[in-house]
Amino acid sequence: AIEFQHVQKDFNGQTVIPDLNLTIDQGELFVLVGTSGSGKTTSLKMINCLEPLTAGKILVNGTDTTTIPVRSLRWQMGYVLQQIALFPTMTVAQNIAVIPEMKGTAKKEINQTSDELLAEVGLDPKEYRNRMPSELSGGEQQRIGILRAIAAQPDIVLMDEPFSALDPISRQQLQDLVLRLHARYHNTIVFVTHDMNEALKLGDRIGVMQHGQLIQVDTPAALAQHPVNDFVRNFFGASR
Ligand code: ATP
Repeated sequence: AIEFQHVQKDFNGQTVIPDLNLTIDQGELFVLVGTSGSGKTTSLKMINCLEPLTAGKILVNGTDTTTIPVRSLRWQMGYVLQQIALFPTMTVAQNIAVIPEMKGTAKKEINQTSDELLAEVGLDPKEYRNRMPSELSGGEQQRIGILRAIAAQPDIVLMDEPFSALDPISRQQLQDLVLRLHARYHNTIVFVTHDMNEALKLGDRIGVMQHGQLIQVDTPAALAQHPVNDFVRNFFGASR
């Protein structure tokens, strides 16, 4: 589980997140939505210590993140961004293998998993495993980036608007992929998006952020039926 306990975040003396309290359960696909500047990315980056907390604490599986080395914290976590940077001098298969290899997984197992994952995203392993990132489309690169994060089988995957640069079809395919991989690996996923439809499709629960505060945390059905205020109602309504 990931627990935010009275988390505060200031930038240059200005409080952008005053008091965040949230527990994301083990195996949950939790979506953070909200308008631009509401604090979604900052909340995500505090989980893997890319941003330090001003006050409060975050527990990951019961451990205060400031008490363990950043390296071992990030070891447990995959991180997927809007612009995925594949290693440009490595093939597709090498990119997918990089973290499992560091973790000491057997080569044969890595190759097999890598081929399975490629097939899962509709890329023929024979055709794609030896390609260089420069020989892939943007959507294909994004697929490989997700596979790279998933192949390491981390307990937790943090995703920050991973599909917002993609066309609607690729976007849907990758949303489906995330759902399939989540069903298979049961890892905890924290997914940031400003797209309510994406949130509704993916989230076990959704947290709606406004001005650094979580104004509602609920299942998609509960959010649709009982928005706590006009902001949530409108945000929700505007995306339908
Ligand atoms: P978006 O959807 O536009 O990515 P967001 O909800 O992810 O927005 P954050 O990126 O978390 O929002 O930003 C929250 C607030 O913190 C914003 O007001 C932003 O200007 C501010 N902020 C973020 N990073 C910094 C920084 N490094 N220095 C100063 N202010 C920052």
